[in-house]
Amino acid sequence: MIVTEQKPINEILENLKNEKNIFLVGCGECSTTCKTGGEKEVIQMREKLICAGKNVTGFIIPKAPCVGSQVIGSLAKYRAEIECSDSFLVLACGLGIQSVKENLRQKKEVHAGCNTLFMSTLDKAGNLLFERCSACSDCILDSTGGICPVTRCPKGLLNGPCGGMDKGKCEVDKNKDCAWVLIYNELKEKNKLDNMNGIQRAKDYSQSIKPRAKVLVKGIGSGA
Ligand code: SF4
Ligand code: SF4
Repeated sequence: MIVTEQKPINEILENLKNEKNIFLVGCGECSTTCKTGGEKEVIQMREKLICAGKNVTGFIIPKAPCVGSQVIGSLAKYRAEIECSDSFLVLACGLGIQSVKENLRQKKEVHAGCNTLFMSTLDKAGNLLFERCSACSDCILDSTGGICPVTRCPKGLLNGPCGGMDKGKCEVDKNKDCAWVLIYNELKEKNKLDNMNGIQRAKDYSQSIKPRAKVLVKGIGSGA
């Protein structure tokens, strides 16, 4: 899941100050879970914009699997409303915002309604979001018992804890468990402590030079 938080309304209104007719885009997946761009939040945003003197021309909330892949079809159904809109306000992650921009036929302003924070898992109760993956392009979860040190250790250490670990807690944030203590306990439980004997090779950051691209259809270039 991609975690977002809504921008303050003052910032949103400042960004929309030159436009009157606004089309809203939410997200039926991650932003719904994060309560930043689901149906309830989109309707609340519509009310706030109307109160601020804007005209909301319409809204869409693309559903699964992701606003990024569903936005083309969703926008196509609202051609007339989009035609008379000055701009879009997108309550979704940076991918959703850029998908709207890249799939628009008309030249319209596209505004970010949310800040994109990180990639996460959700706890069993559905209340807490934990950052778990930094998309490093070279996954080592197999050797670390399914716990990511790149993301869960603030220093991204690949070969065991730093000297600051104290009673299993991280020196950077004492409320959090040291990632390497978690990894050790996990490997011990699985009888795989041998994994810790080897030296984890340095990350090949040439694999994660931005912007990355993945070609899905042979013969199609990746120049974007
Ligand atoms: S090692 Fe960590 S950051 Fe890299 S791909 Fe795996 S989970 Fe993501
Ligand atoms: S205490 Fe553990 S998690 Fe915290 S920075 Fe050191 S190695 Fe990383």
